[in-house]
Amino acid sequence: MKFACWFSFVVLAFGQSPQPDGAGVRPGSIPANWVTGGPDCAAVPNWQVHAYNDDFFILRESGCTNYEKPFLYLLFGKDRALLEDTGAGKEVRTGRAVSEIIEKWCAKNGRKSIPLVVAHSHSHGDHISGDAQFAAMPGATMVPLTVEGTRSFYGIAKWPEEIGRIDLGERILDVVPIPGHDTLSVAFYDRQTGVLLTGDSLYPGRLYVRDYPEFVHSTQRLVDFTQGKIVAHILGTHIEQAATPYQDYVVGTKYQPEEHALALSRGQLLELNDALRQMGDKPRRMAMRDFTVWPREPAPTPKTSQ
Ligand SMILES: [Zn+2]
Repeated sequence: MKFACWFSFVVLAFGQSPQPDGAGVRPGSIPANWVTGGPDCAAVPNWQVHAYNDDFFILRESGCTNYEKPFLYLLFGKDRALLEDTGAGKEVRTGRAVSEIIEKWCAKNGRKSIPLVVAHSHSHGDHISGDAQFAAMPGATMVPLTVEGTRSFYGIAKWPEEIGRIDLGERILDVVPIPGHDTLSVAFYDRQTGVLLTGDSLYPGRLYVRDYPEFVHSTQRLVDFTQGKIVAHILGTHIEQAATPYQDYVVGTKYQPEEHALALSRGQLLELNDALRQMGDKPRRMAMRDFTVWPREPAPTPKTSQ
C-alpha cells in the first residue's frame, strides 16, 4: 500500500489559519456515541472513522477485533501527516484503514501523496500491533519505540523534563514526556485545535500506573504545560468508564452501549493531579467520577523500551 492519490481537485482551504472562533482555535466535532463492539459483530466495521474536522481524524478499533478498542488519531499538516498508534490485536488491519483516509484526504486537497509519521502514545502492545503494516510502506517514518529514539525524534533536550515538538507543516504539535504508565509515554498538544492527546495516562477508564513517582511528576508536568493554554479536549486512547458516574466496564468488555464520552477537559487533569496530591507517597486505588487511578506493580523492563 502506498499513499498515492490519483485525483486532482481544486486546492481547498487547507493551510489557512485557524477558523476564527471565540478561542482562536480550529473547531471540530466528536460523536456522542461510538459503535464499540456489538451486539452483532457482523454489523460492526473493523474501524469507525470520524472526521473531527477536515484535517483531523479519529479512528476507533472495533471491540469485535480486540476488546481494548483503542482510539487512534491522524492529523494532517501541510508537509506531512502524523498517526498516533497503530491498534491492538493480531487481526488488526490498520494500514488499510489509514491508507484509505489518506487517499481521500489527498484527493480532496489536490495532492499526489503526503509523508506519514507513525508515532506512539506509548509502547504497550494494544497500541503498536499494526506497526509492521506501516514499517514497509513507502513514505512512512516510524518513531522509534525507545526512550532515546523518542527523545531524539521530537528534539526533547532532556527527558522527561523538557518539551519537544514536531512540525507537520503550518501545524506544530508539542510533545510532552509523561512516563509513569509506560517508560516512553508522551502527550501531544495540537496548537491548531487545542486538543491534547494523553494516551493511556488520562482517559475515561482505569489509569494503570506502573511507576508512581514518575506518574506524579508527569501529571504535574502536563498541568504546568497546559497552564494558560487553550485545551479544547483531552483525548485518550480508551473508554472503559460507563456514562454513569463511578461505574466502569470490566476488563474484556467488547460491547459498551452506555459508555462514557471520549473527551475529557483540563478540569479532569486537575482532578487527577489533586488525587495524586491526596495520595502523597502512598499510591492507592482511587475511583473518581470519570476515571480510576489504578497503581500496579512496576512492569519488567519491556524489550521495546529503555
Ligand atoms: Zn492501552
